[in-house]
Amino acid sequence: MRAGRLRSVRKIRQLTTFNDFGLAEPILRALTEEKYTIPTPIQTQAIPIVRDGHDLIGIAQTGTGKTAAFALPILNRLAANRRRPERKSCRVLVLSPTRELSAQILDSFQTYGRHLRIGTALAIGGVKMGPQIRALANGTDVFVATPGRLLDLMRSRAVTLDHVETFVLDEADRMLDMGFIHDIRTIIGRLPVQRQTLLFSATMPEAISELAGKMLRHPQTVAVTPVATTAERIAQRVIHVDRGGKPALLADVLKTEPVERALVFSRTKHGADKIVRGLVKAGISAHAIHGNKSQNQRTRVLADFRDGRIKTLIATDIAARGIDVDGISHVINYDLPEVPESYVHRIGRTARAGAEGVAISFCSRDEVPLLRAIEKTIRLAIPASGQVPAQAPRPQQRQQHGRPQQQQRGQDRNNGRPQPHAKGGRPKHGNGHRQQQQAQEGRPHQNGHSNGQRRAHDAHAPRAHQQHSSDGTISSVAFLHRKPEPRPAARTERRNPASR
Ligand code: AMP
Repeated sequence: MRAGRLRSVRKIRQLTTFNDFGLAEPILRALTEEKYTIPTPIQTQAIPIVRDGHDLIGIAQTGTGKTAAFALPILNRLAANRRRPERKSCRVLVLSPTRELSAQILDSFQTYGRHLRIGTALAIGGVKMGPQIRALANGTDVFVATPGRLLDLMRSRAVTLDHVETFVLDEADRMLDMGFIHDIRTIIGRLPVQRQTLLFSATMPEAISELAGKMLRHPQTVAVTPVATTAERIAQRVIHVDRGGKPALLADVLKTEPVERALVFSRTKHGADKIVRGLVKAGISAHAIHGNKSQNQRTRVLADFRDGRIKTLIATDIAARGIDVDGISHVINYDLPEVPESYVHRIGRTARAGAEGVAISFCSRDEVPLLRAIEKTIRLAIPASGQVPAQAPRPQQRQQHGRPQQQQRGQDRNNGRPQPHAKGGRPKHGNGHRQQQQAQEGRPHQNGHSNGQRRAHDAHAPRAHQQHSSDGTISSVAFLHRKPEPRPAARTERRNPASR
């Protein structure tokens, strides 16, 4: 049992890129276009389970990347097993509690499936049923709906659920809060017995566990904790400095900062040794760990670092993979990493086990493009001090919640921390609020931009994106907030890549 669990953990840990999931090429292409590089933990865990056709309980809230966790493997199965949907029917039914969430889910399916010929349709309350009925007439692959409108369409015989292959119940706990539980039971009763069922919920109240017990068959459960706080606990900042000024700056930082244990990253082994020599000259004891050191030396240095006998350790990225030490108060990027994702892995060495952490990056003129790439990857402007070198490329103007990036840069509004962002929180809804909620759900659409009017990348741009990794694997994620996106009420389309 234990061995089995360890095996599955190891298997999960190896899956760190989207290429590892065996997804169809057109899906991977869409992900690359969306600039998704690292799967989030819920994606890492859920995608293989859903892809293989198992039932799943996913305990995850909005903001963890859960939509892609089910949409990607579902699209993959649809692509692998193409079939014309039956009239007035769908192959995949996704139920979500609100109009906005339903629209976002539909948008995700269309974005990730943009290179596949997949039909999608949306049915939500508050708008005319006519277009929705017409959209379903020839059947559709993916149908996203809110429960009330789905029942109305079923009663009007505009849709039947007899041919549903995969059923997704999203935000199940919120459905419960909004009083939809009876509607859900009715809908489940109309689904074929033979189907794949996925249930996502941020929490598992008893009523949801009961429902899960009835509607799922041998489900596998995956859970991710909301970890937005992890990223917020790391105070990140950049100091612009000439390459030649780095040794003195490092000595200064180590002397003035309240360092308990510092891990300093050097790009090369040679550089790591040079940093140690510079520090020793400045009267600061430091040790290096890298591939040229013997295993004995490495083990001893690591043990001393762990026990607190060594306060400052200089490491290369590869050597740092084996470092799993709590209590690292500071991560210092003496050199910026060539690969932006390494930045995320590096800073994840601090703020472990609920502790606070500081990540300081030294950036010389030639490293400014690396800094830009990191900021693009984490989708966050890191507060900076020091002079941005004149010849360096200027940062691109990027909007973060309507606030230009420039406003954040260099203005340490938050004690050197990245700008806080809302956790994946959801509005609270008490019981008995169904009418109010349904009224909200039924609000007519404000006609926003059409899909073609905006870049898909913008629609999917997370606000901030932080991933942690020990020995190179993902251990936590905090980020991923969608932009609310007003959209047309219902549509169905077969997308032909050639016509795009
Ligand atoms: P969700 O939790 O599904 O609402 O996702 C929140 C946001 O994260 C959405 O804007 C997604 O487009 C985005 N997102 C999901 N997965 C990833 C990923 N692996 N990398 C970057 N962004 C992602």
